[in-house]
Amino acid sequence: MKITDHIQAANGRTLFSFEILPPLKGQDIQEIYNGIAPLMEFKPPFIDVTYHREEFLLKPLADGTFRRITTRKRPGTVAICAAIMNRFKVDAVPHLICGGFSKEETENALIDLHFLGIDNVLVLRGDNLKHETSFVPQPDGNQNALELLQQVVRMNQGRYMDDELANATATDFCIGVAGYPEKHHDAPNLKADIRWLKQKVKAGATFITTQMFFDNKAYFDFVATCRKEGIDIPIIPGIKPLASLKQIALLPKVFHIDIPEALADAVEQAPNEQAVRQIGIEWAIAQCRELKEAGVPVLHFYTMGKSQATKRIAEAVF
Ligand SMILES: Cc1cc2nc3c(=O)[nH]c(=O)nc-3n(C[C@H](O)[C@H](O)[C@H](O)COP(=O)(O)OP(=O)(O)OC[C@H]3O[C@@H](n4cnc5c(N)ncnc54)[C@H](O)[C@@H]3O)c2cc1C
Repeated sequence: MKITDHIQAANGRTLFSFEILPPLKGQDIQEIYNGIAPLMEFKPPFIDVTYHREEFLLKPLADGTFRRITTRKRPGTVAICAAIMNRFKVDAVPHLICGGFSKEETENALIDLHFLGIDNVLVLRGDNLKHETSFVPQPDGNQNALELLQQVVRMNQGRYMDDELANATATDFCIGVAGYPEKHHDAPNLKADIRWLKQKVKAGATFITTQMFFDNKAYFDFVATCRKEGIDIPIIPGIKPLASLKQIALLPKVFHIDIPEALADAVEQAPNEQAVRQIGIEWAIAQCRELKEAGVPVLHFYTMGKSQATKRIAEAVF
């Protein structure tokens, strides 16, 4: 079922959902199931599964030179989507990225997803590789999320890359895109970022999932600006429970978001990591209660594969 239909069917009730990461290469899928099972009591209508592109590493050799190796640390997004749909009877939302994909590989991935009965995709550009200062698309790939979205829309119209395919089956994906309450780091300002977001909506996106934020004002202001710009699709807030002291430096660095002063101060004064986790949970509960009160369509949690904190927040909020 499409995310937009889930939201409509909820009739104004806030839904619960979450995102998981595929396990590190070599680890078992049971770890994924163990992370999902405790959260099923909150009846998530869908679960997102992230996509991780390949990385390039330099492996030192005996003669002092290096060999470049390519590795994908977290493969398996499509298979995990199919496995969790089968096991938990919920919709899975695979993330699709431009980075590392040719358009043909994207088309083939979409065919797989369609055959598996997956109704939703979240389309993203993906980040630059660690050794690159800015995002470098594949020469034969999509340059940004808008182009990737347009490819999915064309397939929804039965238009594949090969123009000569006669009577090709149209897919029917519900397509989500990312939004950034505190602006995407490449954008010169929030207004410009929202203008690009509007392009994605005009091109056919039907829901937006936001980057994590710790100050609800950022989300409320973002939604207000989007609405003023004519973006009228659901904007799903992304919630991350702060889980360790080091995250107050790490999260801003990796995700380009702010940690509010009150939260950072409280965490810095906490006597130990257990107290930090408790502060993170209480902060997220307060955030979620206010968001739910404001009538957000879904509270979407970045679990990073760990269910404990999300479970405690959901217990307090739903
Ligand atoms: C909810 C969510 C889930 C995510 N999941 C994943 C994941 O599974 N795997 C992963 O690798 N990454 C993931 N990311 C990270 C994401 O890939 C990065 O944030 C990436 O840098 C930007 O992706 P985007 O889709 O927002 O890009 P885009 O929409 O392409 O935007 C990128 C930048 O370009 C600008 N821009 C947009 N369109 C244009 C245009 N036509 N011309 C010029 N500039 C333009 C935007 O303002 C923005 O600054 C996720 C992010 C979010 C918020």
